[in-house]
This record gives sequence, C-alpha cells and structure tokens, in this order.
Amino acid sequence: MRFYYRTINVRGRDLINTAIGNTPLRKCNFLSASYNSQIYIKDESHNPGKSSKDRAAWFMMEDAIRNEKIKPGGTFVEASSGNTGISIAILARKMGYRAKIFVSKTCSQEKLRILESYGAEVELCDNSRGMHIFNSTQYLAQAYAANTENAYFTNQYYNSANIKAHYKTTGPELWQQSEQAVTHMLIGVGTGGSISGIGRFLKEQNRQIKIWGVEPVRSVYQGFVETGMVPEFQELHDAIEGIGRTFIPGAFDPQVVDRIFQVDAEESKDIAKQYYAQTNQLIGYSSAAVLACLEKYKEEMNLKEEDQLILFFPDHGDRYIQKLYKEKKSQSSKIYNSL
Ligand code: PMP
Repeated sequence: MRFYYRTINVRGRDLINTAIGNTPLRKCNFLSASYNSQIYIKDESHNPGKSSKDRAAWFMMEDAIRNEKIKPGGTFVEASSGNTGISIAILARKMGYRAKIFVSKTCSQEKLRILESYGAEVELCDNSRGMHIFNSTQYLAQAYAANTENAYFTNQYYNSANIKAHYKTTGPELWQQSEQAVTHMLIGVGTGGSISGIGRFLKEQNRQIKIWGVEPVRSVYQGFVETGMVPEFQELHDAIEGIGRTFIPGAFDPQVVDRIFQVDAEESKDIAKQYYAQTNQLIGYSSAAVLACLEKYKEEMNLKEEDQLILFFPDHGDRYIQKLYKEKKSQSSKIYNSL
C-alpha cells in the first residue's frame, strides 16, 4: 500500500511526497521465540531520510508552505536531536528552502556530518539544564526564527502536524500491515509525536491495544503518565539519543498511552551489541532502548503466545557507530535463546 500525501504547490509545481512512509513491518522469529509471543519490527530506517522523522518533517513543512507561513526560499528552523533536522534539511533542499538546525552538543558525529552534507546550517547548543533556557536548542531556535526574515520554526514539540503525521500515516500502516491483529506497541518517546499519533489511531480501531512508551531514566514522561504531575527537572546524564525529555511537550498525548517504562543507556548499548551478534544488523540507539525495555520488563509485560507486539525502530545504527558499536563488547550474559 502507498500513501499519497496531499499535494503542495511549490513555485508552480505540484509536489507529492510518495516516497515517505510505507516502511516494512517484519516478524522477528528469534525475538518471537525468546519472548514466546508474536514480535514484529516496524523499520523506519526505510524512509528516504532514514528515520521516522521524515513523516513529521513533511507534515509540518507542508502545512507551513500550504498556509503561507513561509515564503519561497525561506528558512525552516528546528530544534532537533538530529533526525528531524536531517529530514527537514533534505526536504528543504528539494523544495528550494534553507534549513537552520539547532542540535544538542551531545548529538552523534554521524548525524552532524549528515546534516552538513544536506546543506543545513547547524548550531550546537547546550540542553544540560533544560530545553527552554538560554543556550538550549528550543530557546535558540525560537529566538532565531523570531529575529530572521522569512524564517519559520516548525517547532516539533508543539506542532500538531507532528502527531498528525503519525495519526494519518504510521498508525494506518501498522493497522493494515498487522492485518488488524496488533495487540501491543512499544515506542520510544521523544517529542511524543509518534506514540501519540500511532496510539490515537490504533486505540480508535481497538481500545484494548496497549500503547507502551520507553524513555531513559530521569526523563519525565513516566511520572507524568502515572501521577498527572510533571516531575522536578533532573539532568538526563545518560540520555539515549532521540528519547526522554525534561518537560512535557504539547505533542505528547497521555490519553492514549497506557504505560511508560524506563531503561538506561548502558542496558541499551549492551543489547544493541547482542542484537548485532544475532542478526548482523546495526540498530539505532532508541531502537536498542526498546529491546532493552522488552528484556527488562518481560515478566511485567506478561505477553501471551497469541499477542502481537510491534517494536518501533525509528532509525538505523549507522548514525551511532561511535556511541554504540565502537566500544567494548557486551558485558552481560547472553539474552537471546538462539545465540
Ligand atoms: N528515536 C529517535 C532516534 C528519534 O530521533 C526520535 C525523535 N526525536 C524518537 C525516537 C522519538 O520520536 P518522537 O519525537 O516522535 O517521540
């Protein structure tokens, strides 16, 4: 199935982005055997910009162009952990716009090189004391857009087009690809756009589907979902790139989330190496966090043989060679049955 997204007219040309989305959903036999249930992987690295963020970037940019929030040749501005920035840079280049991307200084070197290769102007920022204070990505992106002519801040943390992208595309894809049999979803939470859009769509189809999120320890989503209050700010010392936040963005909808689990960076790194040993595939940091979560909470998850769990893999491991794969070998004992 292909999703033919709405057309936008750029400089007299109708532009339809048919390449984004429709990524594969594959059953993983050894995980299914290890966890005694039906486990599938939604592999978002098959998007043109090699991450799920192509979807959000396209919807936010399309909305801005269509509604004349930006004029031809203008500058798209975003605060990003890297992937949204890459998606915006690619699309901006294709459509004749510029891209100015504010990223945290902890962003992987690989993502920085990709951003530069697609012609984005990159600004390194400091998010260690939160994302709304001076020198943070969010603060500087907002200020830059406000002070620059014909610049538009896509603002993924508060832009409803971010959720809409997943509600209109990823959710329906998953429902169709799973032949309406999905029972559980496990998704890393960054801006919250993916989990909220997918969760909203799937729960509209079947309220019983469990929507589970994954974040690093000290991130605030778990506390917020459990108590309704935003936990006090704590620095995310061992942040897992792309997921975990110190504030609750407008793109996160707690109504469609059943539970948030927490994992730490070391557990995620370790499992990325084990997964590589098993499959010869390099997976992204937040994908590894999803696997680490499954391993850590398998008892509590209590999956049955007939359950169909979809793991959301937002990007590819080639963006994290230095962070995930260059270091020492796995420390823990082997996890997967067939290793
Ligand atoms: N994983 C990676 C690698 C990401 O780049 C992002 C986006 N920041 C996420 C997970 C989380 O997605 P979302 O922002 O939709 O919650």
